[in-house]
Amino acid sequence: MLDLKSRIRDIPDFPKKGILFKDITTLLKDGEAFQKVIEKITCFYEGEEIDKVVGIESRGFIMGAPVAYGLNAGFIPVRKPGKLPSDIYEAKYELEYGTDTLTVHQDAITPGERVLVVDDLLATGGTMAATLDLLKQLGAVVVGVAFLIELTELKGRDKLAGHQVLSLVSY
Ligand code: AMP
Repeated sequence: MLDLKSRIRDIPDFPKKGILFKDITTLLKDGEAFQKVIEKITCFYEGEEIDKVVGIESRGFIMGAPVAYGLNAGFIPVRKPGKLPSDIYEAKYELEYGTDTLTVHQDAITPGERVLVVDDLLATGGTMAATLDLLKQLGAVVVGVAFLIELTELKGRDKLAGHQVLSLVSY
């Protein structure tokens, strides 16, 4: 059994003091480990008739795009403000200090389409909750949300109540 945790690097005090940053670049550069991550998520949702995989900027793109390919689904980027060129919906969410915003194209999803959302890490759940807010505005049917890493102490799952949450490794 390939050990994914041993491929994830801890960086203390990044990007600021007190944060233990989970660096996945050490996993991504390992072809076998990267393939295992994509395979595990893809296998879990095979048979769920996913129409679109949504990836959250920017590490959610790295994982979301190959999952979309594997599920024969389209890929939708959820991006930071000022990046998407056509008409958008936006959702604001709380950070430790202040707020941030995520955006999606208004025509990204047809109402009723079945969607899987992918990101690298679940911490407080604010980023994913804002993304689910956007998907609600689009009328998407969210089949599940998938993460490589879950930081269980931060109880992000509580913000995602009512959704199926998959995480491959937890701390
Ligand atoms: P949250 O909204 O609190 O669930 O934070 C999730 C987002 O912030 C993800 O997109 C992660 O990439 C990033 N993030 C939060 N905490 C960490 C951490 N300890 N290490 C790496 N990335 C993190």
